[in-house]
Amino acid sequence: MIKDCVAVWDNCLQTIGRNVNPQSFKTWFEPIKPVRLDNDALTIQVPNKFFYEWLEEHYVALLKMTIRQELGAGGRLEYQILMAKQPETNSNKYNGATNSNYNGKASGKKKIDISSPGSIDSDSIKNPFVIPGIKKLKIDSQLNPNYTFDNFIEGDCNKLARSAGQAIAKNPGGTAFNPLVIFGDVGLGKTHLGQAIGNDVLASDPTKTVLYVSSEKFTNQIIDSIRNNAVNDFVNFYQLIDVLIVDDIQFLANKVKTQEIFFHIFNQLHQGGKQIILTSDRAPKDLDGMEERLISRFKWGLSADLQAPDLETRMAILEEKMNQEGLELPQDVVEFICYNIKNNIRELEGVLISLVAQSSLNRRDIDIDLAKEVIKNFVSQMSKEITVGFIQNLVADHFEVPVEKLKGATRKRSIVIARQLSMYLAKNLTNKSLKAIGENFGGRDHSTVIYSCKAVQDLLDTDVIFKDTVADLEKKMRMSLNEK
Ligand code: ADP
Ligand code: MG
Repeated sequence: MIKDCVAVWDNCLQTIGRNVNPQSFKTWFEPIKPVRLDNDALTIQVPNKFFYEWLEEHYVALLKMTIRQELGAGGRLEYQILMAKQPETNSNKYNGATNSNYNGKASGKKKIDISSPGSIDSDSIKNPFVIPGIKKLKIDSQLNPNYTFDNFIEGDCNKLARSAGQAIAKNPGGTAFNPLVIFGDVGLGKTHLGQAIGNDVLASDPTKTVLYVSSEKFTNQIIDSIRNNAVNDFVNFYQLIDVLIVDDIQFLANKVKTQEIFFHIFNQLHQGGKQIILTSDRAPKDLDGMEERLISRFKWGLSADLQAPDLETRMAILEEKMNQEGLELPQDVVEFICYNIKNNIRELEGVLISLVAQSSLNRRDIDIDLAKEVIKNFVSQMSKEITVGFIQNLVADHFEVPVEKLKGATRKRSIVIARQLSMYLAKNLTNKSLKAIGENFGGRDHSTVIYSCKAVQDLLDTDVIFKDTVADLEKKMRMSLNEK
């Protein structure tokens, strides 16, 4: 009896359906079309390369078993990939590093047949950024046009990142800086710089497709696309982008599924010579909860950090903001603000805005006195964050040991306890990574921090007095923060 491909695949689907959950079945198996059956080889059509890779990565054993069950021990599975863009000319590409399973034993020998029978019409790709009513697929870049290089003041704190950004803007995807990872603390200009690159690309070539997306939005889109059985639309959509800017990738930490899909999108864009720009609040190596294979790709290009600006740069930035807003401030007030607000440019702008608001509401001149009042309010609002240094000072104070000893190598019992407790509190009260915490203690490594936390926990579990001390300290910390 000659079996036909539809019947064989139907049988396969029944087996598969018993072995995967309904959501995965809907997402990954329903879209597959059986194409032909030649002797022992069943050819199935999948919507794109990503889809194929996903199947191979996650379902290879199941597919192998199912195909052998239907076609006997020599049964093979071949894929045909429907391409959204130009068909790839080199099918060996699939032997590449992106998929170590490819030559796999699993479903026997596989052949990839990349044809584009009725290539996907890009207009039909569902995506969340399309501007309705525009005939040609036009992706709204989601960029804020106010973030440009012109108003991104250069200083020693941002020189490397800024000039790499400009080089990229001239030649997206064509420099060694791919991806560009811009990292640094909050309020230092990561979003501004990332967007400035995108705006500059569009200014010199409006036909380029640029997309800015926050990591939260990206994650939500993935969740939606999985829910709506549209993961391939999602991935296809991202293939259309020339310059992809993903902001605050630290939020992808521990999101396994999102990272998985991002990994594939990253690979496709990178292989296609497209530019990827990422921002993060810490260096790639410190991104806990991020898959190693992603971190290693982040390191392919350039990681450039943004430091806190020095006084001169802060003054230049503040003056730039005043220009933009058409404001004038006495020079001594500008200096006073810049002396006092050091680590966050967003705060610097916040002070400027409050100062102007206060002065017009209360009909007061902008002078040092008003600036003092505003900054006082401001700092207490803004510095809700507990820092490692703050913890170290407080603990050192409490145990009456010098702060430097916490960072040193002394093994004296009282100092060891103070040191371990500081690490423990830093882990629980800040959002610093174990690695970053260790660095604050004279360059200790993350395993020392883990060990310390465990030692403190043991002590807390057994020593009531110690437990009270720690509770006291935590309370003190919270209170002194509110007083500031
Ligand atoms: P981040 O994304 O790192 O938290 P943002 O990019 O949102 O920081 O920057 C915070 C604010 O500071 C923005 O309004 C931005 O325009 C401004 N800013 C940061 N760096 C500079 C700079 N070098 N020149 C001018 N403005 C800057
Ligand atoms: Mg930002």
